Amino acid sequence: MNIILYGPPAAGKTSVGQMLARRLRRPFVDADLLITQRAGLSVPEIFDRHGEAVFRGLEAVVCAEIAGRDGQVIALGGGTLLNHASRASLELKGVIVCLTAAAPELLARMSGGNGRPLLGGADPRADLGRLLASRRAHYDSFPTRVDTTGKQIEEVTEAVIASINHARLDVRAPGLAHRVVVGHGLLEELPALLARENLHGPYVLVTDENVERCLFSSVPAFSPRVVLQPGESQKAFHSVEWLCRRFVEHGLDRAGTVVALGGGVVGDLAGFAAATFMRGVRWVNVPTTVVAMVDASIGGKTGVNLPEGKNLVGAFHAPALVVSDPLVLATLPDAERISGMAEVVKHAIIGNAALFQSLEASPTFGSVRQIEAALAVKIGVVEADPFERGIRATLNFGHTIGHALEAASLYAIRHGEAVAIGMVAEARLAERLGLAAAGLSVKIASVLERIGLPTLHTGRTASELRAAMAVDKKAAGGRLRFSLPIRIGEVRHGVEVDEALLAEVLGEAGGGR
Ligand code: NAD
Repeated sequence: MNIILYGPPAAGKTSVGQMLARRLRRPFVDADLLITQRAGLSVPEIFDRHGEAVFRGLEAVVCAEIAGRDGQVIALGGGTLLNHASRASLELKGVIVCLTAAAPELLARMSGGNGRPLLGGADPRADLGRLLASRRAHYDSFPTRVDTTGKQIEEVTEAVIASINHARLDVRAPGLAHRVVVGHGLLEELPALLARENLHGPYVLVTDENVERCLFSSVPAFSPRVVLQPGESQKAFHSVEWLCRRFVEHGLDRAGTVVALGGGVVGDLAGFAAATFMRGVRWVNVPTTVVAMVDASIGGKTGVNLPEGKNLVGAFHAPALVVSDPLVLATLPDAERISGMAEVVKHAIIGNAALFQSLEASPTFGSVRQIEAALAVKIGVVEADPFERGIRATLNFGHTIGHALEAASLYAIRHGEAVAIGMVAEARLAERLGLAAAGLSVKIASVLERIGLPTLHTGRTASELRAAMAVDKKAAGGRLRFSLPIRIGEVRHGVEVDEALLAEVLGEAGGGR
């Protein structure tokens, strides 16, 4: 795995990169230096004689080359990853740390001849201002960022290391204990990691076709593998039988380990097959979607759907280990990433106000520290109530109305979209009940909208949604109980809501219908 330093001009990519490479005993690669060596000209000379397009072409060639090598510390030029192909190839092979700094400090660092052709005009301050404004969303789109303002190179180097250090979290729930490791590049090391954790073979790796296509170059050592078709429709009994028969075929025995590599569907299904095969074999969950990473992989719930409803058959069977590698999120389609973010926002609202604030500042997600923060919320809830007898219901925030929306739309709406609308509507319920201060729902809606999630539903009436709620399996003794936010970071469960108020809020969620 590579460590790639990126960010605006004068953010310190080269000097921090050199120090980082020395600290970690890795080779240092300066992409701009490679380009100038190849061209036999300095960067400003390439711009002057051949123009920016030629420079960008050379840059893309150099990127493709360095993406093919491993274990390096790389410093990139400030606009390199505007090229989608360069970004895609480097993102899958390493962690990108975006160094930032306040504009006046960048300017001060550049004084005295900067060798930066895009900032070489008569007014460098104005040039830099324009450049930063035009690239703000771009730099914000990298979830691992380190602010270098006012920091020495040593401090920045330490901060970069801290930002990418692996996380280890233990779920200490009796009967459901498991360990979670989070870190860039863990997928590449999976066979060695399993051996270190004493999780021995025979292994059978279960995945789906999309994940196999996108990620298999990262786990070459794994076989045999069993590949499911992608999608929720596979989360059914017929797949459990099919999987278990493949387990027999591949000689899986009680000492062996099922490795689930995929989203929540693969995890729930392979976990359930592992729970029942030979009355239970060990399994390892390697989540590859946002939902699976921050939610489905934790807590040991496994299961399948019935035609009558989702997740109606299942078992609590905790994985022996969860291995979360943020690099896998690079290949996730945008729609899946955005939908998955609803669960991240939910976790922030339930138990981590700082995570919520960071999403308010920038809706990008996927750094080790962010994943760790979102996981810690779910782990805390699971530890307090492993078998969902009480407080674990707080995780249902947004889901009572969300599930009704999904069911009423015959699952045409994505789960994350339904939960987003559900969270805003349920926050409104909390406001009307006087549990939360006015404005909470607007605050939640604005973060969800920045992420690209909907906050209103269309096409369903309040009474259709209410009817869909009547079959919610979380209704206790026929009475609906909600988990409602009190403030960002705190949710109360078991709240009963008056029918007239519920009808009003359901109507508003639909834009007044
Ligand atoms: P999913 O597993 O269907 O994955 C979504 C899509 O992304 C699929 O097409 C998949 O092939 C593809 N994909 C996965 N990883 C990829 C990658 N890295 N690159 C490219 N494509 C990739 O859906 P999901 O949202 O991950 O999970 C939803 C399921 O999780 C539901 O069945 C839900 O019930 C379950 N779930 C379970 C729990 C639990 O506690 N067990 C909690 C939440 C959700």
